[in-house]
Amino acid sequence: MILNPKMECMSREDMKKLQSERLVKLVKTCYEKSKFYRRKMAELNITPDDIKSIDDIHKLPFTTKTDLRDEYPFGLMIVPPTEIRRIHASSGTTGKPVVDVYTENDLKMWAEGAARVMAAGGVGPGDTVQVSYGYGLFTGGLGAHDAAAMLGAVQLPTSAGNSEKQIMLMKDFRSNVLACTPSYALHLAECIEKSDKVSIEDMHLRVGFFGAEPWTEGMRKELEEKLHIKAIDIYGLTEMCGPGVGGECECQNGTHLWEDMFYPEIINPDTLEPCAPGEFGELVFTSLCKEAMPIIRYRTRDLTRLIYEPCKCGRTAVRMDRILGRSDDMLIVRGVNVFPSTVEAILTEFPAYSPQYFITVDRKNNEDMFDLDVELREEYFSPNPAKQMPYIKPLYDRLVSVLGIKPNIHILPPNTIQRSIGKAKHVNDKRQFK
Ligand code: ADP
Ligand code: ZN
Repeated sequence: MILNPKMECMSREDMKKLQSERLVKLVKTCYEKSKFYRRKMAELNITPDDIKSIDDIHKLPFTTKTDLRDEYPFGLMIVPPTEIRRIHASSGTTGKPVVDVYTENDLKMWAEGAARVMAAGGVGPGDTVQVSYGYGLFTGGLGAHDAAAMLGAVQLPTSAGNSEKQIMLMKDFRSNVLACTPSYALHLAECIEKSDKVSIEDMHLRVGFFGAEPWTEGMRKELEEKLHIKAIDIYGLTEMCGPGVGGECECQNGTHLWEDMFYPEIINPDTLEPCAPGEFGELVFTSLCKEAMPIIRYRTRDLTRLIYEPCKCGRTAVRMDRILGRSDDMLIVRGVNVFPSTVEAILTEFPAYSPQYFITVDRKNNEDMFDLDVELREEYFSPNPAKQMPYIKPLYDRLVSVLGIKPNIHILPPNTIQRSIGKAKHVNDKRQFK
């Protein structure tokens, strides 16, 4: 179902008009109310008069994660505290977390963004949405929760973790919709497989909304087969609101971005110039409707491309390709750029391997070492190294040809790599401490 056909299917021409109107208003408001943006615009010698349409957006300054940290906690807020209804913050693995504050309307807009994605997956009254994203400052839990509420579905706020109980409730409460990180969904699927109390046949799951971290087509296949569901990608970031900045439609061929709320650009991260349409680069967003903490040209560091060809679903909203990775997740090993998600994509080409992996990068004798822990599936595993060899060689060759580096592969028994309940951690780069 298309939740908001007016916005999701608007003609490109009308969308541009709407974006232009919203941008002009946004820039005026920021210039009047935000010391931060007034200063940034002054540095570039521009005023709101320079911004007449969305085509002028490239004249505006960028906002970076460092800016948000410098303005921690409320430097970018432009409404009085009486207007604020909620505060979230990203996990912020290093330094201060990134904060977002929301007015009543901001919360509604966010819920609608995520609800558009769930509606595309057919969610409505009578459905039970098991929200196994973490509840708390992290936007995942409450974001999915509010979307389910907006669609009149049952909200089942299990939060993340306590997997055995999750699975019991999933069966007993007949949850038919699951929302969590793809890595946690895989973990739940594995727990169901291993369980002697329940099997997937006892479950009623129909569709899952997975996001908050990069995942691959191989992982989609794995989740769809193991959980008997349609697995839909949902994308978002705290800086814009949370999950629901965009999501896949029933065609599962790219993430529609809700362009009436968030204007996307793709730039070359080195030159900061716009990329040609369809070219890969860094995704940049301008929030077009946020009231409490509007953000202009936020550099997400997510690498992807935009697809402007119309989608069969009827939505005109631009589609984004899968996120290749975050530029700050990218490893440089012996001078070669490696995205951890490429390893997942390769692993899922091999039926003998589970998609679980852990990379350790270290430096020994001035040389980078790339160690990769992987798991063979139960039916392929043997503790005898000679019996592992036939599986190692093809994986090794494929990794060398795609990544361009020689990994040390370590085969581990099934279910031994650490599972995560939230965003998966796939890398330990020991070089940073040397
Ligand atoms: P943190 O920066 O602490 O991870 P967020 O929860 O705001 O905080 O994370 C947002 C980021 O998560 C995005 O910028 C992107 O890198 C990643 N992300 C979110 N959803 C997806 C998705 N569907 N596919 C790939 N990456 C995603
Ligand atoms: Zn579509």
